[in-house]
Amino acid sequence: MTTARRRPAALLARAPAELGASGIAALRLTVRPLAEAADLARWRDACVARLVERAHARVPFVRRLLERGGVTPRDVRSVSALAALPVTSRRDVQEATVVDRTACDVAAEWLLDRSTSGSTGERVTVKRTWVEERLLNAFRWRALRDYGYRARDRRAQVHFLSGEDPRDDQSLQRLAQRLGLLRRRVFDAIGDPALADGVAAFGPDVVTGMASALARLADALDVRGSRVRPRFVVSGGELLTTPLRDRIARLGAPIHDTYGCNEVNLIAWQCPRGAGTYHVCDDALLLEVLGPDDRPVAVGEPGEVVVTSLHAHAMPVLRYRLGDVAVRGPDRCPCGAPFSTLLAIGGRTFDTFPLENGVALHPWEILAAIDAQLGWVRSCQMVQTARDAIELRVVPAAEASPAVVGRMEDAARSALAGRARFAVRLVEAIEAAPSGKARPFVALGGADNAGTIA
Ligand SMILES: [Zn+2]
Repeated sequence: MTTARRRPAALLARAPAELGASGIAALRLTVRPLAEAADLARWRDACVARLVERAHARVPFVRRLLERGGVTPRDVRSVSALAALPVTSRRDVQEATVVDRTACDVAAEWLLDRSTSGSTGERVTVKRTWVEERLLNAFRWRALRDYGYRARDRRAQVHFLSGEDPRDDQSLQRLAQRLGLLRRRVFDAIGDPALADGVAAFGPDVVTGMASALARLADALDVRGSRVRPRFVVSGGELLTTPLRDRIARLGAPIHDTYGCNEVNLIAWQCPRGAGTYHVCDDALLLEVLGPDDRPVAVGEPGEVVVTSLHAHAMPVLRYRLGDVAVRGPDRCPCGAPFSTLLAIGGRTFDTFPLENGVALHPWEILAAIDAQLGWVRSCQMVQTARDAIELRVVPAAEASPAVVGRMEDAARSALAGRARFAVRLVEAIEAAPSGKARPFVALGGADNAGTIA
């Protein structure tokens, strides 16, 4: 094992070789995006050609995709030619092994785990190299700067799950923080009873986080009667519903919404110049909004979001159906930015379970507690069946022994600490919302707005 002290140097030393000329060009775009649509289109075509050629040579899962599409890498050298590949579903990806989906020349021990299960209840393995992670995050930083983030700003990040991959070396960030170059503090919106006081004492210029975490922060500050005065707030990670937006608005700052997911990181960010659109991160990914026939919908129409990550080579994401709904917008934002747009994002949303005595429980709290136990779960849905009872309906991926079920129940019950009863129920299938989307959480009374358009 390398020591923590030597690791950043090793990672940095590897970075240029791993990024390659194309990655370095991409990194440059996070500082200065291409202004001309034609230049951006040419660059994206080159990215697709390189991605498909590399993935075909190294990733069995991608090789089979091309076979299914009846094409060779030579046929797929542009964005438009990519439509020859079949759209992949969460199910396709779950059924392939991790080895099948990973480039054969990537050392598995260097990969960071970005797997996800929270948003839809269906676990999907997502892995990236440290360099890929930094590159994708650079696009997120660009969006923050677009909203007016400055290098000296104090940024409070409010989340539910603070778990970090121990392999994601953060020494550089810590060093930057010590040098005063990165003034960021992460707050836990669930486990920290001193959340409001902590954020107020930090005095952030910018507050970012998941929509319902931000809403909880606003609630907590109200209860304490304290105020923070950020210049702006950036929400992400889930659907920013009107009730959530209203609660967050009590922070007293403009709210900018972003749209992203574990599979590809940032997908789109709300137009900073108030055009009412979302700018799509066109230089990091290809975004398609497809109708039931898997053809692109017209501008102004809703469809399913399908993404291709231009910079994920270790575990490629090609024409992957995320399970979200969005409304396609104009191919260029009216504000003049060089990006294509979405008009609205629908999909994944979570709010709280109302317990007795007016107490609200965020289902993520339980999900965080059982996260390590989800290995045997194919899909699940957390349902509040009474004021004091929560049931996790589980479709198992492998045979579920009473022992693994018991371990999961114990973990959830210890997190609940008597606030509600908890039981796992094995089922054959999980009922979807009328929209067809998975419903990860169903509160008492069935209130759930997953799949609605904001
Ligand atoms: Zn714009």
